[in-house]
Amino acid sequence: MAPDPADLLRQRGIQVTAQRLAVLRAVTGRPHTTADAVAEAVRAEIGAISLQSVYDALGILVAQGLLRRIQPAGSPALFEDRVGDNHHHLICQICGRVVDVDCAIGSAPCLMAADDMGYEIDQAEVAYWGRCPDCLAQARAPSDSESPKRRRRNNQPATRPE
Ligand SMILES: [Zn+2]
Ligand SMILES: [Zn+2]
Repeated sequence: MAPDPADLLRQRGIQVTAQRLAVLRAVTGRPHTTADAVAEAVRAEIGAISLQSVYDALGILVAQGLLRRIQPAGSPALFEDRVGDNHHHLICQICGRVVDVDCAIGSAPCLMAADDMGYEIDQAEVAYWGRCPDCLAQARAPSDSESPKRRRRNNQPATRPE
C-alpha cells in the first residue's frame, strides 16, 4: 500500500540517494519531527550524516512536495509526510506536543480571510494552541510537585491559575 520511497523520489525528479531515502523514511515514521531527530534516526540507519546534509535533503523533499514543514512560533521547524491536505495542528503550550487536526470547514483553504486583499488564497495554516490531555490531567492532579514549565510561545497574557 505504501509507495516505495525510491519511486516517490523518482516521480518528483529527485535523484535517489541513500541519505535522501533515509531522511524520507525517518520523517514517515515520526510525524512533526525536528531536523535533529531526523539526523539521529538517519545516523542509526545509515551511519554518519551531517546536520547540513539532513537540512539539504529535507529542503529538497519539502520543495518537491513530499514533506511538509511547519514552524510553530518558538519551535524548531517540524517535518511531516502528511502533505497536500491542508490539515492544521493542535499544539500544547506546556509540553509542546503537536497533533494533526483536519481542516476546519471542508477543503483547502477551509477558512476565508476577512479580506483577501486581491490574493488568490490556496491554503490556510492554523495552529490551535492549548493544553494537551496529559498536561491537563497533570494540572488537575492534586500534587504539590512543581508545576510543569510553561512553554507559552505567543504573546497572549498567561491566564492559567497556578
Ligand atoms: Zn502537553
Ligand atoms: Zn501534521
